[in-house]
Amino acid sequence: MIISGKELSARLKEDMRGEVSTFPEKYGRVPHLVVILVGDDSASASYVKGKAKASEFVGIRNTTVHRPATIPEEELLDLIRSLNADDTVDGILVQLPLPDHISEARVIETISKEKDVDGFHPLNVAALWQKQPCTLPCTPKGIIKMLKFAGVEIKGKRAVVIGRSNIVGLPVAKLLLDENATVTIAHSRTGNLPSVTREADILVVAIGKPRFVTADMVSDGAVVIDVGVNRDPETGKLCGDVDFDAVASKASVITPVPGGVGPMTICCLMENTIECFLRKVAR
Ligand code: NAP
Repeated sequence: MIISGKELSARLKEDMRGEVSTFPEKYGRVPHLVVILVGDDSASASYVKGKAKASEFVGIRNTTVHRPATIPEEELLDLIRSLNADDTVDGILVQLPLPDHISEARVIETISKEKDVDGFHPLNVAALWQKQPCTLPCTPKGIIKMLKFAGVEIKGKRAVVIGRSNIVGLPVAKLLLDENATVTIAHSRTGNLPSVTREADILVVAIGKPRFVTADMVSDGAVVIDVGVNRDPETGKLCGDVDFDAVASKASVITPVPGGVGPMTICCLMENTIECFLRKVAR
């Protein structure tokens, strides 16, 4: 079974569009998301475009602010501070990665927790690990939604997450733990990785290496979630961290790349923007 993130996200965005259409009458306006793009990296520009397109579909007001790669860090932080203070803005997202002279950590901690639609702010991360109300990071949130949509029982299962980044690996592991899976986090120093991954009922791969996970690393009937977004070195086409054709014949459930986790990430960004808006109007 292939879980189509494209199909699920289309359904969820349709529902959100209906919900947002009621907001002008209820609250006098729609949610407003500001996306900051620094520099001209083509992949970042395309992600930003995808976010604008999804916002337009759902009915969220989207403002894309483009700044040159040479922008001084303090100027970018001042821009974020002015958006924090702007009452008409509900969500702020700075597209990563940033040029080397800008500290991503400083940028993330400058966005107010209430407008942190990515769920990357240290206070949101702390709240997640303390099981307090918070904005969940989009990709991990999307993965849990996909598993539930596919009818995968998480409780009691052995989950292995390859990757321990703050953005994907660690929060995915935490959310799986919260769903009562028993979780192992593997990384670049893990010894005999295939022996670890073969233990997984649910295998989440977030490494960033094209077709790294081969069929011999997966047990029969495993659920395989491929987070990776890479260029195939031979064809130049988008591909995941999992050798899809080889692994699909062993897995019971698998996500494709493209069309899997990626669309769900944008869908959850829309959901987070709506949640930030609703928390604000309820205050
Ligand atoms: P990252 O920060 O570079 O982290 C990569 C992780 O993979 C690290 O924890 C690293 O281990 C581990 N790793 C690297 N080589 C390994 C190996 N040979 N064996 C085992 N583990 C290994 O990357 P990220 O931000 O988490 O992103 C991972 C992938 O997901 C990328 O392809 C990215 O483009 C994609 N992504 C997709 C979405 C989406 O919406 N679809 C969203 C975010 C990211 P160490 O910690 O030991 O270095």
